[in-house]
Amino acid sequence: MSIRSAEIICVGTELLMGSTLNTNCRFLAQELVDLGIPSYHQVVVGDNHDRLAEQIRESAARADLLILTGGLGPTTDDITMSVAAEVAGRELVFDQDSFDAITEYFRRLFRNMPKNNRKQAMLPEGATILKNNNGTAPGAMFEYACPTEEDPDRVVYFVLLPGPPSEMSLMFKEEVRPILEKMSDAKLESKYVHLFGIGESDAAERISDLIDAQTNPTIAPYASEGECMFRITQRIEKGEEEKDLITPIIDIMKERFGQCIYEIGDRPLKKVAFDMLLEKKKTVCFAESCTAGMVSSSFVDIPGASQVFMGSVVTYGNQVKTNLLGVSDDVLENLGAVSRECAQEMAEGARKLLGTDIAVSITGIAGPTGESAAKPVGLVYLAITDENGTEVKEVHLSGNRSRVRHVAVLHAFNLIRMRLS
Ligand code: ATP
Ligand code: MG
Repeated sequence: MSIRSAEIICVGTELLMGSTLNTNCRFLAQELVDLGIPSYHQVVVGDNHDRLAEQIRESAARADLLILTGGLGPTTDDITMSVAAEVAGRELVFDQDSFDAITEYFRRLFRNMPKNNRKQAMLPEGATILKNNNGTAPGAMFEYACPTEEDPDRVVYFVLLPGPPSEMSLMFKEEVRPILEKMSDAKLESKYVHLFGIGESDAAERISDLIDAQTNPTIAPYASEGECMFRITQRIEKGEEEKDLITPIIDIMKERFGQCIYEIGDRPLKKVAFDMLLEKKKTVCFAESCTAGMVSSSFVDIPGASQVFMGSVVTYGNQVKTNLLGVSDDVLENLGAVSRECAQEMAEGARKLLGTDIAVSITGIAGPTGESAAKPVGLVYLAITDENGTEVKEVHLSGNRSRVRHVAVLHAFNLIRMRLS
């Protein structure tokens, strides 16, 4: 059976009270778009038996697939599994495999398993059990007979996922998505084109003809701080022959966006920079003023960063810029710490100090204070230096302190990408 529409139900009083941001809903909504499954309602409901049961019935009357998150834990306020099972008319039965997996989870952490975790192995009879490779609570998928006059055989699928986002998203990707893909009438394939150095509206305008004409594949823009991305998705009906409608669109985008495209795939900008450094066998260090370590910290999110990243210096105060990196008093006094020359001297000083092939420096005014007429908030200078010389880039970033610093970090990675490509 094909799924005509899906509904997301996030369970948790903490969501209603605003103490937890509902990121699960956002993740699942994006996944549904990706799968080509329409969704017309999203609901948040507290950990309350009657309201949850009522909500499940109401949603099941509208949609063929209900995805619920939260409330699969071991405590008494975690009621989602039992309420959903009750609505579907299924008993909860003990599942030995799940119990073993939970026991193993605690054993690996050298912790004793609390008695109440046994509850998490009580799962609806006949359900497909969804493994939790990031925590204890297994999820479950099962059917609920929900006949209507027109369709006496109608069933609604329930998918129950744990609340913690890392557990929920992994379970969805590993266990649920493959099942939903199989159930669908069509196969969807997506490619992601990532851009840096161009605003979302400018980017969308440059391919507005493609966006206006889209049917298959579809083109969807996404913007995040400092970057934008297009998702290109083609739909092939089951039984239809394989074809590639995506590549011709990407070829046009390459022509129009040129160097702004940093990735066709999944890699973030820093990973692209990292892979280039690795491939060219270059080491790197950073000299950070206004980002004060954010570039370095973000870079070492990449596993194996130590292969190319040697270290960094945070030189926030002028005296430290001089003492550690040899930035000249003349530059600091006459041109200031936020200047082309300072960025250049910081990068060159760091390369010498840390002995790397490449050094990147960042100095700027993150705001909200510290600006002057000549140097507004958001003015950032970055420099990159290697054996071929030094290049300085001046950028003007909009937004608050946090955004300015975040986007400055991206520029640092982009400089490496541009230098090595
Ligand atoms: P646990 O075993 O940890 O109790 P659970 O499946 O019972 O997991 P909840 O108790 O509902 O899930 O939520 C656990 C935590 O997961 C919450 O404190 C919250 O941090 C996070 N969480 C729950 N629902 C969401 C959501 N919709 N979006 C983001 N985070 C969520
Ligand atoms: Mg819980």
